[in-house]
Amino acid sequence: MGKPSGFLEFERKASQKRDVNERKNDYNEVELGYDQSQTKDQAARCMDCGIPFCHNGCPLGNIIPEFNDAVYDGNWQYAYELLSSTNNFPEFTGRICPAPCESSCVLGINKPAVAIEYIEKSIIEKAFENGWVVPVIPKKRTGKTVAVIGGGPAGMAAATQLNKAGHSVTLFERADQIGGLVRYGIPDFKLDKSIIDRRLEVMQAEGIEFKTGVNVGVDIKAEKLLEKFDAIVLTGGSTVPRDVEIKGRELKGIYPAMEFLSQQNKRVATERGKSLDLAKDHQGKVYQNGELLATGKNVFVIGGGDTGSDCVGTSNRHKAASVSQIEIMPMPPASRAESTPWPQWPMMLRTSTSHEEGCERSWSVNTKEFIGDENGNLKALKLVNIEWVLENGRMVMKEIEGSEKIYPAELALIAAGFLHPQASGLIEDLGVKLDNRGNVDATNYQTSVKKVFAAGDMRRGQSLVVWAISEGREAARAVDEFLMGYSLLEAKAVPMITADYVGI
Ligand SMILES: Cc1cc2nc3c(=O)[nH]c(=O)nc-3n(C[C@H](O)[C@H](O)[C@H](O)COP(=O)(O)OP(=O)(O)OC[C@H]3O[C@@H](n4cnc5c(N)ncnc54)[C@H](O)[C@@H]3O)c2cc1C
Ligand code: SF4
Repeated sequence: MGKPSGFLEFERKASQKRDVNERKNDYNEVELGYDQSQTKDQAARCMDCGIPFCHNGCPLGNIIPEFNDAVYDGNWQYAYELLSSTNNFPEFTGRICPAPCESSCVLGINKPAVAIEYIEKSIIEKAFENGWVVPVIPKKRTGKTVAVIGGGPAGMAAATQLNKAGHSVTLFERADQIGGLVRYGIPDFKLDKSIIDRRLEVMQAEGIEFKTGVNVGVDIKAEKLLEKFDAIVLTGGSTVPRDVEIKGRELKGIYPAMEFLSQQNKRVATERGKSLDLAKDHQGKVYQNGELLATGKNVFVIGGGDTGSDCVGTSNRHKAASVSQIEIMPMPPASRAESTPWPQWPMMLRTSTSHEEGCERSWSVNTKEFIGDENGNLKALKLVNIEWVLENGRMVMKEIEGSEKIYPAELALIAAGFLHPQASGLIEDLGVKLDNRGNVDATNYQTSVKKVFAAGDMRRGQSLVVWAISEGREAARAVDEFLMGYSLLEAKAVPMITADYVGI
């Protein structure tokens, strides 16, 4: 432990944020950079517990107390070595991870948790500043070839690890740029895309080949892939959005959240000097100019989660006339629900930086109808308040009589999550089995087809960046074992205790 009295002396202080009135006028990151002395004080709050639950809370098994200790001692380079031994992209997780590690921090039982995510971001930014993040080029190549299909964080992590093991890796991506949802879902104001480009330069120098604009399954057929590569890793994400079956859904002005968000990320990239085709979204769907702008419109975001919150922040930056977010579930409690005691991920109300920028939030609200004008454009939403009642052991939704109301709306964004990966094309052609949720069935990352592996949202369903990195690393290890008969790639740090072990 760096400083035994640290948690008594210092208050928790995480990333500082830019002023709301300034930040909602641009797409620069909301969070400010790190401050070295603040990071040291925050690292001093770590109690180096005998059983570090945070380490188990992190899906990557990040060695948190050790890097905290190194930061407190001013040994930043060692902190970076520890952090990068379990996490390929701390610059992503240090910015947008919901930090389940902090929910299981022992200090969090009766005090604010250690600011682990902030410390993580500080370490990796210092490492980049000091030139410690250098390409790690394998000394020997194995002569084996691996195709990774899908350039999101799972694919990027799998490619990095497999290349490190000496295999020749080609990373295929159907969009025009690598990054997956980190590139085209998460807005620049949460994670500036130069952060991805900086990492891709390192990966390229390490010898990974990127092939963008290649829709595998269409542009390259499955059998060709099986013929050409010794192993294949599927990391295509969970791309089929959950839609809403509501009267009027066919009207113009109603879009899945990802179409709206990805188009904005493309606009920002273009303004910052990249040459991209703005008429199409990241998956090649064509739009009319201005169709996906919220400017001057009354916007309703349907779905109360993080994707919805990203739509809120983007709509405010577009200068929407009004922004409302509705959620069918009841409002969560203000603090940790009793049903999710420490060290579990707490069910509670979360207010994002986008919510802070202005938004009308409502819970227990259902959309009954989209109402259009004579030209087929959305002009209003019919909403009704609901209550959830227990019937025969199940929670059932009941409309509250007389609560129906019509609200003007020219843009509705559906942020109801994703169902599963797209089965047509590559998955069907390869013939890999799906599980009962429609995700690729791959116990230990091996699919039902020899030499085909899967990881990330495509395997586990829609999830988090930290899980995608973890899955990419684990799948790489499984592939390496398959190709070589053994693997020297780091195994995930074994959790010392499971979350359900609490209470004794
Ligand atoms: C709007 C939004 C905001 C989010 N915010 C957060 C957040 O703040 N924090 C967090 O932790 N998580 C967040 N997530 C979730 C997180 O981004 C995902 O869990 C993560 O990116 C999944 O990684 P992945 O690599 O499995 O898949 P993806 O990131 O989806 O990448 C899959 C890639 O595969 C490509 N692909 C698919 N099929 C093919 C094919 N046939 N040929 C070639 N390429 C193909 C796709 O184009 C895509 O680029 C968010 C998600 C969304 C939608
Ligand atoms: S990756 Fe996420 S869960 Fe893991 S230590 Fe970092 S912030 Fe915590």
